[in-house]
Amino acid sequence: MRFTHESLAQRVVFAAGDAPAGVVAEVEALGRSKVMLIASVREKALADPVEAALAEAGLEVVVRHEEVVMHVPVETAERARTAAARAGADVVVSVGGGSTTGLGKAVVMDGSPVAGIPLIAVPTTYAGSEATNVWGLTKGEVKTTGVDPRVLPASIVYDARLLTSLPADLTVASGLNALAHSVDAMWGPRADPIDQALAQEGIRGLAAGLPQVAADSASEEGIEQTLYGAYLSAVAFASAGSGMHHKICHVLGGMFNLPHAQTHAVVLPHVLALNAPHAPEAERRIAAAFGSASATEGLRALREQLDAPRALKDYGMPEDGIAKAVEPIKAAVPANNPTPVTDENLTALLEAAWNGDLP
Ligand code: NAD
Repeated sequence: MRFTHESLAQRVVFAAGDAPAGVVAEVEALGRSKVMLIASVREKALADPVEAALAEAGLEVVVRHEEVVMHVPVETAERARTAAARAGADVVVSVGGGSTTGLGKAVVMDGSPVAGIPLIAVPTTYAGSEATNVWGLTKGEVKTTGVDPRVLPASIVYDARLLTSLPADLTVASGLNALAHSVDAMWGPRADPIDQALAQEGIRGLAAGLPQVAADSASEEGIEQTLYGAYLSAVAFASAGSGMHHKICHVLGGMFNLPHAQTHAVVLPHVLALNAPHAPEAERRIAAAFGSASATEGLRALREQLDAPRALKDYGMPEDGIAKAVEPIKAAVPANNPTPVTDENLTALLEAAWNGDLP
């Protein structure tokens, strides 16, 4: 065996029902006292108790920032950075989904006037951005992503109670987005046995938790299992790098402005069906994680239980977009993809995903 695995250093706190105290403890542990608190208007009710607890602990929220936009337009990032610098923030706390975490990352990344101050992420979806050192910014219609060690949150505070308000359709789409991280980590360009072991346990956690949350959105036990699975999946993905699945979703999302989590939820079964026959270790691990006869059967059964998103045409992709997407996707798929990608198999995959024909 020959491989080099890099683990990213961060603290991970599970604080069921008590994010406010968890955040206070993390800010104090970092020796910081001037907080920039980021949460969108929709996430306000989740962030208010955090602000109150910080004030009670004598820690100052020097700026509260609500302008959060999906995929972090550069202008939005600039305004947030300026606000942080003007207020003299020495730590950023983000309370929200992947878009909110993403704005927090944009504030602390290279090039910002407050670059390098620590970020504490309090996730309220299963996006997993909190466990990666990847940032994303959008200029016009072009989304750029990059790696910067400064954007890795110093601490994550997971509180299952914050996710009881996540609407059912978003829970399912976001949970399957997390599952896409672990499945793609099985064959990503830098995938190693440590990533695969983390991904396998991530899939197990998601498959155990998601049906519970889908059946009862207030199930804190189900949410916690799902958060645990989502965290492991994101860690595995951050190390393994984007495989075929993420390359497809990145191209489609950028070309047709598709919703992030739903696109992942639709595309995943098709990539798994294409790759599993040529990826025996992934097949074995994914099937074991689902406790099913095969990887594809396990995913099929979970998706049925969740009434998962099915067709890209339902999310605004035009049919003639299939032909347009083939070349850019082919160019982006890593050379080590288990099944060689051809115009024919990729077109068939996109047609099936567009139409909602399950493999
Ligand atoms: P999101 O953050 O845009 O949230 C979707 C909607 O749900 C928003 O309106 C939000 O306000 C609302 N919401 C969030 N939590 C809620 C809750 N608990 N209750 C009620 N409403 C809630 O969507 P997302 O899928 O979490 O994140 C997508 C973004 O994250 C994309 O831009 C994606 O590129 C990015 N992302 C980045 C990485 C990375 O490693 N850099 C990883 C995964 C995702």
